[in-house]
Amino acid sequence: MSINNLFTYEIIAQETPYINRNCSKCKTNTEFYCSEKFRVNANQKIVDIWLIYNCKHCEGTWNYPILSRVNINKIDSMLIQKFMNNDKETIWYYAFQISKLRKQCNGVNTDIRYELRKEKLDSLSNKVTIKLCYKYDFGLRIDKLIAEIFGISRSKVNKLSQNGTILLNPKINMKSKVIDDLQITVMGDWYDGSS
Ligand SMILES: [Zn+2]
Repeated sequence: MSINNLFTYEIIAQETPYINRNCSKCKTNTEFYCSEKFRVNANQKIVDIWLIYNCKHCEGTWNYPILSRVNINKIDSMLIQKFMNNDKETIWYYAFQISKLRKQCNGVNTDIRYELRKEKLDSLSNKVTIKLCYKYDFGLRIDKLIAEIFGISRSKVNKLSQNGTILLNPKINMKSKVIDDLQITVMGDWYDGSS
């Protein structure tokens, strides 16, 4: 008898990406981490907001411009409060704007720690379907994630993909980045999700 299984895996980032740029004190290209603090400057009605990054070696700072010379009346008052209170969700929103960050520095290191929160939804057939979702995108590769979920090597993932045991919906390349709502279906019963 076969049991059907549907799971969701939420990918939960555990830290914000590191960035690389030149540190004026260390006088070299070095890694900076997000301080999780905004700097807010108000000059009469004109506001500047930065997100502060610190050099890993000397704690030297780099201010990542979020808003530059904006009239305070044009900013939502709730948002201003979030900037003032260093609201974590707002900080993470900006710290994960990876393509914008890349334009401002020498590189963004997205190889960050993450956790998977698994939830079993339902089952009906001789296959397992996993639906992926996340709040913060950091360009995780599909084959890497599948290897982690099933505890198998990346080459095994690619073999199972080639022989039709692992299917992706939409049908994108195994080596591409995880997209929100991606579904992974595993045919057969070699994986029952109990581990
Ligand atoms: Zn430094």
